[in-house]
Amino acid sequence: MIKLKADFVITMNKNYDILQNAEVLFDEKIIDIGYNLPGESIYLGKNSVLMPALINTHTHLEFSSNKTDLMYGDFITWLESVINKKEELFVSCKGDCYKRAIEEMKKSGICAFGEISSSGGDLKYLKHSPLKVVYFNEIIGTNPAIADAMYQDFLNRLNESVHMQNKNFIPAVSIHSPYSVHPILMDKIIEIAKEKKLPIEAHFMESQAERRWLDKGEGEFKLFFDKHFKNAKPLIKPLEFIEKFKNTNTTFIHCVYANEEELQKISEIKASIAHCPVSNRLLNVGKLDLEKVKNNKIDYSVATDGLSSNYSLNLFKEIRAALLMHTDLHPKYLAKDLLKSVTINAAKQLNLNNGSIEKEKSADLIALKLPDDIDDIEKIPIQIILHTTEVEELYINGKKI
Ligand SMILES: [Zn+2]
Repeated sequence: MIKLKADFVITMNKNYDILQNAEVLFDEKIIDIGYNLPGESIYLGKNSVLMPALINTHTHLEFSSNKTDLMYGDFITWLESVINKKEELFVSCKGDCYKRAIEEMKKSGICAFGEISSSGGDLKYLKHSPLKVVYFNEIIGTNPAIADAMYQDFLNRLNESVHMQNKNFIPAVSIHSPYSVHPILMDKIIEIAKEKKLPIEAHFMESQAERRWLDKGEGEFKLFFDKHFKNAKPLIKPLEFIEKFKNTNTTFIHCVYANEEELQKISEIKASIAHCPVSNRLLNVGKLDLEKVKNNKIDYSVATDGLSSNYSLNLFKEIRAALLMHTDLHPKYLAKDLLKSVTINAAKQLNLNNGSIEKEKSADLIALKLPDDIDDIEKIPIQIILHTTEVEELYINGKKI
């Protein structure tokens, strides 16, 4: 059993309670939170903060060797550069490359991440990760002639990851997007997710090009599909796509161009959204309307996406970018919301028993220090986001990492 004492304990419970000079007692799970708890306490020091460890809901670690290879500034141009460089990037990301990616996340206080795996080649590097992994086996493919082969390959990968399942490695599924997967494959995979109770992630409405393609079958994606696939047509309407995920735990990634009706539908089926502000900026697709997301009572997480569209996997840098980008929102309240997005909201999206400091939750915690005294706890969320890049301590399942 360990008892930590901090100047501020952010519980991330329903009331967003921040306790001053409080203690947290835990072994693998949180046993108690409060004052004068039994046993010797370890004091984390002046201006210390103890809070739930962060969760990065959406990454593509297979692309972690990218630094300067891909073309930023326009979605379709970027996509073409991904197609051209993909094999090269995958081959050059081996053990050390995955280790560096995980190390960067660990230093920023991340205890768990959602990995989109398109090839299964990352499995051997991630199955013994020191951080918790929710491993999303991704399906992509619209050609009915090879749908059976795609599905079989997906099943093989899924089965292998199910085989590896333990408390820190959780299999899941991902449907790449409404424009890149045949609806027959979508249905099959959603059935599996329902049956096995697996979380799902799907990219949705990331770009204006996707909006125009799905609505009217025209625009930049038409040129792209004509070039690569000949005579392609959009295969599903956006609302129909969302509707398919009813009665699952689904997170739609990006949603920058989701309209009001689609946001309502996402809310109605109790799905959620992952927001990747740096990626959206680098691909120049604009930014998610967080106010509309909130008004529709949709929970959102903030995630880094992969190094294919980011310069870093540090989640504190990501929420700092979000704080500075959403100039239409009040920074004090946005900061509060952003901390929630990378803890309790993210835990729900990935089906994890963490994200808050409450009894019986996994003891996944971080300790950090504010640079100076704080006289009002209202100031804490924004100051944490402005001043934290790396954390002092990270505990996963009660063990210091
Ligand atoms: Zn993504």
